[in-house]
Amino acid sequence: MKSGRRKGVASGPQICILRDLCKQPSISYGFRRIFFVSNCLTFFDVQGEPKSEWAKQFKYVDRQPIQLDGYTILQFPRPHLVLILLLSLALTAFVFDKLTDDSEDVRFNTGATLAAIPDASPLLNRTALEIRETKTDPESARGEPPAPAQWIATKSEVRPGDNLALIFKRNGLSPTDVYAISNAQPLGKRLRNIFPGHELTLYQDDAGQLMKLDYASGPLDTLIYEREGKLFTSRQVTAEPDRIIAYKHGVIDHSLFVASQRAGLTDNLTMRLAQIFQWDVDFVLDIRPGDAFYVLFEELFHDNKFVGYGEILAAEFVNQGDHHRAILYTDDNGDKDYFAPNGTSMRKAFLRAPVEFSRISSNFNLNRVHPLFKTVRPHRGIDYAAPRGTPILAAGDGRVTRASRTKPNGNYVVIQHGEQFVTKYLHLSKFGRGIKSGAKVQQGQTIGYVGATGWATAAHLHYEFLVNGVNKNPRTVSLPDAQPIAGSEMQRFKPHAAEYAAKLDLYKSQVAVALAR
Ligand SMILES: [Zn+2]
Repeated sequence: MKSGRRKGVASGPQICILRDLCKQPSISYGFRRIFFVSNCLTFFDVQGEPKSEWAKQFKYVDRQPIQLDGYTILQFPRPHLVLILLLSLALTAFVFDKLTDDSEDVRFNTGATLAAIPDASPLLNRTALEIRETKTDPESARGEPPAPAQWIATKSEVRPGDNLALIFKRNGLSPTDVYAISNAQPLGKRLRNIFPGHELTLYQDDAGQLMKLDYASGPLDTLIYEREGKLFTSRQVTAEPDRIIAYKHGVIDHSLFVASQRAGLTDNLTMRLAQIFQWDVDFVLDIRPGDAFYVLFEELFHDNKFVGYGEILAAEFVNQGDHHRAILYTDDNGDKDYFAPNGTSMRKAFLRAPVEFSRISSNFNLNRVHPLFKTVRPHRGIDYAAPRGTPILAAGDGRVTRASRTKPNGNYVVIQHGEQFVTKYLHLSKFGRGIKSGAKVQQGQTIGYVGATGWATAAHLHYEFLVNGVNKNPRTVSLPDAQPIAGSEMQRFKPHAAEYAAKLDLYKSQVAVALAR
Protein backbone atom coordinates (compact mmCIF):
# COMPACT_ATOMS: atom_id res chain seq x y z
CA MET A 1 0.00 0.00 0.00
CA LYS A 2 1.20 3.47 -0.73
CA SER A 3 1.68 5.39 2.44
CA GLY A 4 -0.91 8.09 1.75
CA ARG A 5 -3.77 5.64 1.84
CA ARG A 6 -3.15 4.50 5.36
CA LYS A 7 -3.94 7.69 7.15
CA GLY A 8 -7.64 7.57 6.53
CA VAL A 9 -7.41 10.59 4.33
CA ALA A 10 -6.58 8.62 1.26
CA SER A 11 -7.71 9.76 -2.11
CA GLY A 12 -8.33 7.71 -5.17
CA PRO A 13 -11.11 5.50 -6.40
CA GLN A 14 -11.32 3.22 -3.38
CA ILE A 15 -12.38 6.03 -1.12
CA CYS A 16 -14.69 7.46 -3.74
CA ILE A 17 -16.61 4.24 -3.79
CA LEU A 18 -17.00 4.15 -0.05
CA ARG A 19 -18.06 7.75 0.10
CA ASP A 20 -20.56 7.34 -2.69
CA LEU A 21 -22.12 4.42 -0.90
CA CYS A 22 -22.53 6.53 2.13
CA LYS A 23 -23.89 9.69 0.54
CA GLN A 24 -27.32 9.15 1.90
CA PRO A 25 -28.80 12.48 2.85
CA SER A 26 -31.58 11.31 5.09
CA ILE A 27 -29.33 9.36 7.39
CA SER A 28 -27.60 11.01 10.24
CA TYR A 29 -24.37 10.37 12.00
CA GLY A 30 -24.78 7.26 14.10
CA PHE A 31 -25.88 5.01 11.36
CA ARG A 32 -23.85 5.60 8.28
CA ARG A 33 -20.95 4.38 10.22
CA ILE A 34 -22.84 1.43 11.56
CA PHE A 35 -24.20 0.67 8.15
CA PHE A 36 -20.81 0.56 6.63
CA VAL A 37 -18.88 -1.07 9.39
CA SER A 38 -21.45 -3.75 10.00
CA ASN A 39 -21.50 -4.58 6.32
CA CYS A 40 -17.77 -4.67 6.44
CA LEU A 41 -17.86 -7.13 9.30
CA THR A 42 -19.86 -9.42 7.07
CA PHE A 43 -16.80 -9.79 4.90
CA PHE A 44 -13.89 -9.29 7.28
CA ASP A 45 -13.17 -10.20 10.84
CA VAL A 46 -12.13 -7.46 13.25
CA GLN A 47 -8.47 -7.92 12.30
CA GLY A 48 -9.31 -7.26 8.67
CA GLU A 49 -8.90 -10.88 7.55
CA PRO A 50 -11.35 -11.90 4.82
CA LYS A 51 -13.99 -14.32 6.03
CA SER A 52 -14.82 -15.92 2.70
CA GLU A 53 -13.21 -16.91 -0.58
CA TRP A 54 -15.08 -14.10 -2.22
CA ALA A 55 -13.85 -11.52 0.26
CA LYS A 56 -10.24 -12.54 -0.45
CA GLN A 57 -10.24 -10.51 -3.62
CA PHE A 58 -10.53 -7.41 -1.44
CA LYS A 59 -7.95 -6.31 0.98
CA TYR A 60 -8.57 -4.45 4.22
CA VAL A 61 -5.76 -1.93 4.35
CA ASP A 62 -6.60 0.32 7.27
CA ARG A 63 -4.13 -0.48 10.06
CA GLN A 64 -6.83 -0.14 12.71
CA PRO A 65 -8.88 -3.17 13.66
CA ILE A 66 -12.41 -2.80 12.33
CA GLN A 67 -14.29 -1.02 15.06
CA LEU A 68 -16.91 1.57 15.66
CA ASP A 69 -14.66 4.43 14.77
CA GLY A 70 -12.72 2.78 11.99
CA TYR A 71 -13.69 3.47 8.48
CA THR A 72 -12.30 0.96 6.21
CA ILE A 73 -10.21 1.13 3.15
CA LEU A 74 -10.56 -1.76 0.78
CA GLN A 75 -8.10 -2.27 -1.99
CA PHE A 76 -9.66 -3.65 -5.11
CA PRO A 77 -7.74 -5.54 -7.81
CA ARG A 78 -6.94 -3.03 -10.52
CA PRO A 79 -9.01 -4.57 -13.37
CA HIS A 80 -12.08 -4.52 -11.16
CA LEU A 81 -11.86 -0.83 -10.43
CA VAL A 82 -13.57 0.48 -13.53
CA LEU A 83 -16.34 -2.06 -13.25
CA ILE A 84 -16.84 -1.31 -9.57
CA LEU A 85 -16.87 2.42 -10.18
CA LEU A 86 -19.55 2.05 -12.83
CA LEU A 87 -21.60 -0.26 -10.63
CA SER A 88 -21.28 2.02 -7.64
CA LEU A 89 -22.39 4.99 -9.71
CA ALA A 90 -25.48 3.10 -10.83
CA LEU A 91 -26.09 1.87 -7.30
CA THR A 92 -25.68 5.36 -5.87
CA ALA A 93 -28.20 6.74 -8.32
CA PHE A 94 -30.61 3.95 -7.45
CA VAL A 95 -30.16 4.20 -3.71
CA PHE A 96 -30.35 7.97 -3.80
CA ASP A 97 -33.57 7.82 -5.76
CA LYS A 98 -35.09 5.38 -3.30
CA LEU A 99 -33.98 7.35 -0.29
CA THR A 100 -35.27 10.60 -1.64
CA ASP A 101 -38.64 8.96 -2.01
CA ASP A 102 -38.45 7.60 1.51
CA SER A 103 -37.47 10.84 3.10
CA GLU A 104 -40.31 12.60 1.37
CA ASP A 105 -42.68 10.09 2.82
CA VAL A 106 -41.44 10.92 6.25
CA ARG A 107 -42.54 14.50 5.89
CA PHE A 108 -46.19 13.67 5.55
CA ASN A 109 -48.27 14.35 8.55
CA THR A 110 -49.16 11.30 10.56
CA GLY A 111 -52.16 11.07 12.77
CA ALA A 112 -55.63 11.42 11.43
CA THR A 113 -55.38 8.95 8.58
CA LEU A 114 -53.57 6.19 10.41
CA ALA A 115 -55.22 2.91 9.75
CA ALA A 116 -56.45 1.18 12.86
CA ILE A 117 -54.46 -1.78 14.03
CA PRO A 118 -55.60 -4.68 11.87
CA ASP A 119 -57.19 -7.71 13.43
CA ALA A 120 -54.38 -9.29 15.37
CA SER A 121 -54.36 -12.79 13.92
CA PRO A 122 -53.33 -12.00 10.32
CA LEU A 123 -50.53 -9.72 11.46
CA LEU A 124 -47.77 -12.22 11.11
CA ASN A 125 -48.43 -13.35 7.57
CA ARG A 126 -50.20 -10.33 6.16
CA THR A 127 -49.02 -9.59 2.66
CA ALA A 128 -49.10 -6.54 0.50
CA LEU A 129 -51.78 -8.14 -1.63
CA GLU A 130 -54.17 -8.29 1.28
CA ILE A 131 -53.51 -4.64 2.03
CA ARG A 132 -54.32 -3.61 -1.50
CA GLU A 133 -57.88 -4.81 -1.08
CA THR A 134 -58.47 -2.10 1.48
CA LYS A 135 -57.52 0.77 -0.84
CA THR A 136 -59.80 3.68 -1.52
CA ASP A 137 -60.90 4.94 -4.91
CA PRO A 138 -57.86 6.55 -6.54
CA GLU A 139 -59.76 9.50 -8.09
CA SER A 140 -61.23 10.59 -4.79
CA ALA A 141 -57.82 10.16 -3.18
CA ARG A 142 -56.27 12.67 -5.54
CA GLY A 143 -59.14 15.01 -4.73
CA GLU A 144 -59.48 16.12 -8.35
CA PRO A 145 -62.81 16.82 -10.04
CA PRO A 146 -63.13 14.79 -13.26
CA ALA A 147 -62.41 16.56 -16.56
CA PRO A 148 -65.38 17.49 -18.78
CA ALA A 149 -66.75 14.38 -20.46
CA GLN A 150 -66.35 15.73 -23.97
CA TRP A 151 -62.58 16.02 -23.59
CA ILE A 152 -60.55 13.14 -24.90
CA ALA A 153 -57.86 11.91 -22.51
CA THR A 154 -54.74 10.27 -23.91
CA LYS A 155 -52.23 8.65 -21.59
CA SER A 156 -48.66 8.69 -22.76
CA GLU A 157 -45.71 7.10 -20.97
CA VAL A 158 -42.42 8.96 -21.20
CA ARG A 159 -39.94 6.81 -23.17
CA PRO A 160 -36.17 6.91 -22.86
CA GLY A 161 -34.88 9.87 -24.87
CA ASP A 162 -38.30 11.50 -24.93
CA ASN A 163 -39.06 15.15 -24.45
CA LEU A 164 -42.25 17.14 -24.46
CA ALA A 165 -41.90 18.16 -28.11
CA LEU A 166 -41.60 14.53 -29.24
CA ILE A 167 -44.58 13.43 -27.18
CA PHE A 168 -46.70 16.32 -28.50
CA LYS A 169 -45.68 15.48 -32.05
CA ARG A 170 -46.69 11.83 -31.60
CA ASN A 171 -50.09 13.04 -30.40
CA GLY A 172 -50.58 15.53 -33.23
CA LEU A 173 -50.12 18.63 -31.06
CA SER A 174 -48.35 21.74 -32.27
CA PRO A 175 -44.99 23.23 -31.19
CA THR A 176 -46.97 26.33 -30.15
CA ASP A 177 -48.56 24.26 -27.38
CA VAL A 178 -45.17 22.94 -26.31
CA TYR A 179 -43.94 26.50 -26.02
CA ALA A 180 -47.00 27.80 -24.19
CA ILE A 181 -47.14 24.97 -21.68
CA SER A 182 -43.44 24.83 -20.90
CA ASN A 183 -43.61 28.55 -20.12
CA ALA A 184 -46.56 28.13 -17.76
CA GLN A 185 -45.99 29.78 -14.39
CA PRO A 186 -44.72 28.56 -12.02
CA LEU A 187 -44.25 24.90 -13.00
CA GLY A 188 -43.67 25.04 -16.79
CA LYS A 189 -39.95 24.50 -16.29
CA ARG A 190 -40.59 21.10 -14.73
CA LEU A 191 -41.74 19.80 -18.12
CA ARG A 192 -38.30 20.39 -19.59
CA ASN A 193 -37.03 17.48 -17.49
CA ILE A 194 -39.46 14.62 -17.77
CA PHE A 195 -38.41 11.15 -16.79
CA PRO A 196 -38.83 7.84 -18.59
CA GLY A 197 -41.56 5.73 -17.05
CA HIS A 198 -43.56 8.71 -15.79
CA GLU A 199 -46.99 9.25 -17.28
CA LEU A 200 -48.49 12.22 -19.06
CA THR A 201 -52.22 12.57 -19.62
CA LEU A 202 -53.28 14.91 -22.41
CA TYR A 203 -56.83 16.26 -22.51
CA GLN A 204 -58.07 17.59 -25.87
CA ASP A 205 -61.45 19.14 -26.67
CA ASP A 206 -63.48 17.93 -29.63
CA ALA A 207 -61.66 20.40 -31.90
CA GLY A 208 -58.38 18.69 -30.91
CA GLN A 209 -57.10 21.64 -28.89
CA LEU A 210 -54.99 20.80 -25.86
CA MET A 211 -56.96 21.88 -22.77
CA LYS A 212 -55.14 20.22 -19.91
CA LEU A 213 -52.08 18.14 -19.17
CA ASP A 214 -51.39 16.04 -16.08
CA TYR A 215 -47.85 14.90 -15.41
CA ALA A 216 -47.43 12.29 -12.70
CA SER A 217 -44.01 13.39 -11.46
CA GLY A 218 -43.90 10.95 -8.56
CA PRO A 219 -46.00 8.25 -6.94
CA LEU A 220 -47.95 10.88 -5.02
CA ASP A 221 -47.34 14.06 -7.02
CA THR A 222 -49.14 15.31 -10.11
CA LEU A 223 -48.36 18.53 -11.96
CA ILE A 224 -51.47 19.96 -13.58
CA TYR A 225 -51.43 22.42 -16.49
CA GLU A 226 -54.70 24.00 -17.66
CA ARG A 227 -55.45 26.24 -20.60
CA GLU A 228 -56.51 29.82 -19.97
CA GLY A 229 -56.84 31.46 -23.35
CA LYS A 230 -53.46 31.23 -25.03
CA LEU A 231 -51.59 30.53 -21.83
CA PHE A 232 -51.50 27.69 -19.31
CA THR A 233 -51.75 27.82 -15.55
CA SER A 234 -49.98 25.22 -13.44
CA ARG A 235 -50.19 23.73 -9.99
CA GLN A 236 -49.05 20.70 -8.08
CA VAL A 237 -51.34 18.24 -6.33
CA THR A 238 -49.93 15.87 -3.76
CA ALA A 239 -52.07 12.93 -2.84
CA GLU A 240 -52.33 11.81 0.75
CA PRO A 241 -51.26 8.16 0.81
CA ASP A 242 -53.09 5.47 2.72
CA ARG A 243 -51.11 4.48 5.77
CA ILE A 244 -51.05 0.94 7.05
CA ILE A 245 -49.23 -0.12 10.19
CA ALA A 246 -46.83 -2.95 9.47
CA TYR A 247 -44.98 -4.99 12.06
CA LYS A 248 -41.62 -6.70 11.96
CA HIS A 249 -39.70 -8.78 14.42
CA GLY A 250 -36.14 -10.03 14.17
CA VAL A 251 -33.70 -11.95 16.32
CA ILE A 252 -30.04 -11.17 15.89
CA ASP A 253 -27.26 -13.73 15.43
CA HIS A 254 -24.41 -11.31 14.97
CA SER A 255 -25.45 -8.34 12.85
CA LEU A 256 -28.49 -6.14 13.08
CA PHE A 257 -28.41 -5.76 9.31
CA VAL A 258 -28.43 -9.46 8.59
CA ALA A 259 -31.30 -9.99 11.03
CA SER A 260 -33.23 -7.06 9.56
CA GLN A 261 -32.82 -8.29 6.03
CA ARG A 262 -34.06 -11.69 7.09
CA ALA A 263 -37.08 -10.05 8.72
CA GLY A 264 -37.78 -8.14 5.51
CA LEU A 265 -36.82 -4.68 6.75
CA THR A 266 -35.17 -2.38 4.20
CA ASP A 267 -31.70 -1.06 4.95
CA ASN A 268 -33.16 2.42 5.25
CA LEU A 269 -35.66 1.35 7.91
CA THR A 270 -32.94 -0.59 9.70
CA MET A 271 -30.77 2.51 9.81
CA ARG A 272 -33.65 4.56 11.15
CA LEU A 273 -34.29 1.90 13.78
CA ALA A 274 -30.62 1.94 14.77
CA GLN A 275 -30.69 5.73 14.94
CA ILE A 276 -33.57 5.73 17.40
CA PHE A 277 -31.65 3.53 19.83
CA GLN A 278 -28.13 4.78 19.08
CA TRP A 279 -27.85 6.47 22.46
CA ASP A 280 -28.66 3.30 24.40
CA VAL A 281 -27.13 0.63 22.19
CA ASP A 282 -23.79 0.52 20.41
CA PHE A 283 -24.84 -1.50 17.39
CA VAL A 284 -21.35 -2.75 16.68
CA LEU A 285 -19.93 -3.46 20.13
CA ASP A 286 -22.98 -4.17 22.31
CA ILE A 287 -24.90 -6.57 20.06
CA ARG A 288 -25.16 -10.16 21.32
CA PRO A 289 -26.78 -13.25 19.79
CA GLY A 290 -30.39 -13.36 20.93
CA ASP A 291 -30.87 -9.60 20.86
CA ALA A 292 -34.18 -8.81 19.22
CA PHE A 293 -36.31 -6.01 17.85
CA TYR A 294 -40.00 -5.35 17.37
CA VAL A 295 -40.90 -2.46 15.13
CA LEU A 296 -44.17 -0.80 14.10
CA PHE A 297 -43.95 1.33 11.00
CA GLU A 298 -46.09 2.79 8.25
CA GLU A 299 -46.41 1.41 4.74
CA LEU A 300 -47.75 3.97 2.29
CA PHE A 301 -50.09 3.05 -0.53
CA HIS A 302 -51.61 5.02 -3.34
CA ASP A 303 -53.66 3.94 -6.34
CA ASN A 304 -53.38 0.38 -5.04
CA LYS A 305 -49.64 0.63 -5.24
CA PHE A 306 -47.03 0.53 -2.54
CA VAL A 307 -45.25 3.90 -2.70
CA GLY A 308 -42.85 3.81 0.23
CA TYR A 309 -42.38 3.70 3.97
CA GLY A 310 -43.61 6.31 6.40
CA GLU A 311 -42.57 6.70 10.00
CA ILE A 312 -41.38 4.16 12.51
CA LEU A 313 -44.21 4.67 15.04
CA ALA A 314 -42.90 2.59 17.90
CA ALA A 315 -40.16 0.08 18.48
CA GLU A 316 -38.63 -2.12 21.11
CA PHE A 317 -35.01 -3.22 21.11
CA VAL A 318 -33.86 -5.98 23.43
CA ASN A 319 -30.13 -5.74 24.03
CA GLN A 320 -28.44 -8.20 26.40
CA GLY A 321 -31.70 -8.59 28.27
CA ASP A 322 -32.41 -4.86 28.55
CA HIS A 323 -35.65 -3.74 26.93
CA HIS A 324 -35.58 -0.30 25.32
CA ARG A 325 -38.83 1.16 24.03
CA ALA A 326 -39.36 4.22 21.87
CA ILE A 327 -42.58 5.91 20.83
CA LEU A 328 -42.81 8.54 18.12
CA TYR A 329 -44.62 11.66 19.29
CA THR A 330 -45.54 14.84 17.41
CA ASP A 331 -45.78 17.83 19.74
CA ASP A 332 -48.02 20.89 19.49
CA ASN A 333 -45.45 22.63 17.26
CA GLY A 334 -45.48 19.72 14.84
CA ASP A 335 -41.98 18.57 15.86
CA LYS A 336 -41.47 14.83 15.93
CA ASP A 337 -39.20 12.92 18.24
CA TYR A 338 -38.86 9.58 19.98
CA PHE A 339 -39.54 9.20 23.69
CA ALA A 340 -39.55 6.37 26.17
CA PRO A 341 -43.06 5.54 27.40
CA ASN A 342 -42.37 7.54 30.58
CA GLY A 343 -41.71 10.68 28.51
CA THR A 344 -37.90 10.84 28.68
CA SER A 345 -36.14 11.54 25.40
CA MET A 346 -34.42 8.73 23.51
CA ARG A 347 -31.67 11.20 22.66
CA LYS A 348 -28.91 12.84 24.60
CA ALA A 349 -28.31 16.57 24.41
CA PHE A 350 -25.05 15.95 22.49
CA LEU A 351 -23.80 13.65 19.77
CA ARG A 352 -20.90 11.53 20.98
CA ALA A 353 -18.90 12.50 17.88
CA PRO A 354 -19.66 15.35 15.47
CA VAL A 355 -18.37 13.81 12.27
CA GLU A 356 -19.76 10.76 10.60
CA PHE A 357 -17.76 8.06 8.92
CA SER A 358 -14.52 8.84 10.66
CA ARG A 359 -11.96 7.30 12.92
CA ILE A 360 -10.04 8.77 15.84
CA SER A 361 -6.54 9.68 14.71
CA SER A 362 -5.51 11.34 17.96
CA ASN A 363 -7.15 10.89 21.33
CA PHE A 364 -7.77 13.24 24.21
CA ASN A 365 -4.38 13.23 25.98
CA LEU A 366 -2.97 15.84 28.30
CA ASN A 367 0.63 14.51 27.88
CA ARG A 368 0.82 14.20 24.13
CA VAL A 369 3.94 14.92 22.07
CA HIS A 370 2.79 17.29 19.36
CA PRO A 371 3.31 15.84 15.85
CA LEU A 372 4.60 19.14 14.41
CA PHE A 373 6.58 20.60 17.33
CA LYS A 374 7.88 17.38 18.94
CA THR A 375 7.30 18.81 22.40
CA VAL A 376 4.83 17.79 25.07
CA ARG A 377 1.66 19.65 24.40
CA PRO A 378 -1.64 18.53 25.83
CA HIS A 379 -4.19 17.46 23.27
CA ARG A 380 -7.37 18.92 24.70
CA GLY A 381 -9.70 17.37 22.16
CA ILE A 382 -10.13 14.46 19.82
CA ASP A 383 -8.99 14.35 16.20
CA TYR A 384 -11.29 12.61 13.80
CA ALA A 385 -9.66 11.67 10.52
CA ALA A 386 -12.12 11.89 7.68
CA PRO A 387 -11.91 12.74 4.00
CA ARG A 388 -11.82 16.44 3.21
CA GLY A 389 -15.35 17.73 2.70
CA THR A 390 -17.01 15.31 5.13
CA PRO A 391 -19.81 17.23 6.88
CA ILE A 392 -19.26 18.28 10.49
CA LEU A 393 -22.40 18.25 12.62
CA ALA A 394 -23.33 20.48 15.53
CA ALA A 395 -23.03 18.18 18.56
CA GLY A 396 -26.05 19.79 20.20
CA ASP A 397 -28.55 22.63 19.97
CA GLY A 398 -26.92 25.98 20.62
CA ARG A 399 -25.65 29.28 19.31
CA VAL A 400 -22.49 29.92 17.28
CA THR A 401 -20.29 32.30 19.26
CA ARG A 402 -17.44 32.27 16.74
CA ALA A 403 -16.98 31.23 13.10
CA SER A 404 -13.62 32.61 12.17
CA ARG A 405 -10.02 31.85 11.15
CA THR A 406 -6.67 31.92 12.96
CA LYS A 407 -3.25 30.63 11.97
CA PRO A 408 -3.20 27.61 14.32
CA ASN A 409 -6.93 26.79 14.18
CA GLY A 410 -7.56 27.41 10.51
CA ASN A 411 -11.28 27.88 9.95
CA TYR A 412 -13.02 27.11 13.22
CA VAL A 413 -16.41 27.22 14.89
CA VAL A 414 -17.31 27.59 18.57
CA ILE A 415 -20.80 26.77 19.78
CA GLN A 416 -22.29 27.69 23.15
CA HIS A 417 -24.90 25.21 24.44
CA GLY A 418 -26.86 26.71 27.32
CA GLU A 419 -24.83 28.05 30.24
CA GLN A 420 -22.47 25.17 30.88
CA PHE A 421 -21.35 23.63 27.62
CA VAL A 422 -19.14 24.76 24.75
CA THR A 423 -17.98 22.74 21.72
CA LYS A 424 -15.14 23.70 19.33
CA TYR A 425 -14.48 22.50 15.79
CA LEU A 426 -11.10 23.23 14.13
CA HIS A 427 -9.33 22.98 10.72
CA LEU A 428 -12.52 23.22 8.61
CA SER A 429 -12.16 23.41 4.84
CA LYS A 430 -15.23 25.65 4.80
CA PHE A 431 -18.21 26.71 6.91
CA GLY A 432 -21.71 25.34 6.63
CA ARG A 433 -24.51 27.39 5.17
CA GLY A 434 -25.47 30.35 7.33
CA ILE A 435 -22.85 29.52 9.96
CA LYS A 436 -21.64 32.78 11.45
CA SER A 437 -21.35 34.36 14.84
CA GLY A 438 -24.80 34.52 16.46
CA ALA A 439 -26.41 31.83 14.30
CA LYS A 440 -28.68 29.34 16.07
CA VAL A 441 -27.91 25.71 15.29
CA GLN A 442 -29.64 22.43 15.96
CA GLN A 443 -28.15 19.10 16.88
CA GLY A 444 -27.02 17.30 13.72
CA GLN A 445 -27.01 20.44 11.56
CA THR A 446 -24.00 20.74 9.22
CA ILE A 447 -21.82 23.56 10.52
CA GLY A 448 -18.80 23.00 8.27
CA TYR A 449 -16.68 20.50 6.37
CA VAL A 450 -13.54 18.58 7.28
CA GLY A 451 -10.33 20.14 6.00
CA ALA A 452 -6.70 20.74 6.93
CA THR A 453 -6.59 24.50 7.42
CA GLY A 454 -4.31 25.88 10.13
CA TRP A 455 -1.71 23.70 11.83
CA ALA A 456 -2.84 20.33 10.53
CA THR A 457 -0.82 17.57 8.91
CA ALA A 458 -3.78 15.96 7.17
CA ALA A 459 -7.52 16.43 6.80
CA HIS A 460 -9.18 15.94 10.17
CA LEU A 461 -11.52 17.56 12.62
CA HIS A 462 -10.15 18.64 15.98
CA TYR A 463 -13.11 18.57 18.36
CA GLU A 464 -13.27 19.93 21.90
CA PHE A 465 -15.93 19.61 24.57
CA LEU A 466 -15.87 22.06 27.48
CA VAL A 467 -17.90 21.91 30.67
CA ASN A 468 -17.86 25.16 32.65
CA GLY A 469 -14.75 26.23 30.74
CA VAL A 470 -12.80 22.99 31.38
CA ASN A 471 -11.84 20.64 28.53
CA LYS A 472 -13.31 17.14 28.93
CA ASN A 473 -12.80 14.01 26.88
CA PRO A 474 -15.75 14.00 24.46
CA ARG A 475 -15.71 10.18 24.33
CA THR A 476 -16.13 9.65 28.04
CA VAL A 477 -17.77 12.77 29.48
CA SER A 478 -21.25 11.96 30.77
CA LEU A 479 -23.68 13.62 28.43
CA PRO A 480 -26.81 15.34 29.69
CA ASP A 481 -30.18 13.97 28.55
CA ALA A 482 -32.13 15.78 25.89
CA GLN A 483 -35.31 17.54 27.01
CA PRO A 484 -38.10 15.16 28.10
CA ILE A 485 -41.71 15.65 27.00
CA ALA A 486 -42.83 19.12 28.05
CA GLY A 487 -45.19 19.19 31.02
CA SER A 488 -47.85 20.82 28.86
CA GLU A 489 -47.68 17.89 26.39
CA MET A 490 -47.88 15.15 29.01
CA GLN A 491 -51.65 14.93 29.00
CA ARG A 492 -51.69 14.18 25.28
CA PHE A 493 -48.51 12.09 25.27
CA LYS A 494 -49.60 9.62 27.97
CA PRO A 495 -52.59 8.06 26.20
CA HIS A 496 -50.66 8.11 22.91
CA ALA A 497 -47.72 6.26 24.47
CA ALA A 498 -50.07 3.81 26.19
CA GLU A 499 -51.80 3.07 22.90
CA TYR A 500 -48.57 2.27 21.11
CA ALA A 501 -47.15 0.35 24.05
CA ALA A 502 -50.30 -1.78 23.89
CA LYS A 503 -49.79 -2.32 20.16
CA LEU A 504 -46.24 -3.45 20.79
CA ASP A 505 -47.42 -5.78 23.57
CA LEU A 506 -50.12 -7.25 21.34
CA TYR A 507 -47.66 -7.83 18.54
CA LYS A 508 -45.12 -9.40 20.88
CA SER A 509 -47.72 -11.80 22.23
CA GLN A 510 -48.67 -12.73 18.66
CA VAL A 511 -45.02 -13.42 17.88
CA ALA A 512 -44.71 -15.54 21.01
CA VAL A 513 -47.83 -17.55 20.09
CA ALA A 514 -46.57 -18.06 16.56
CA LEU A 515 -43.17 -19.22 17.78
CA ALA A 516 -44.71 -21.61 20.33
CA ARG A 517 -46.61 -23.46 17.61
ZN1 LIG B 1 -6.27 17.92 17.52
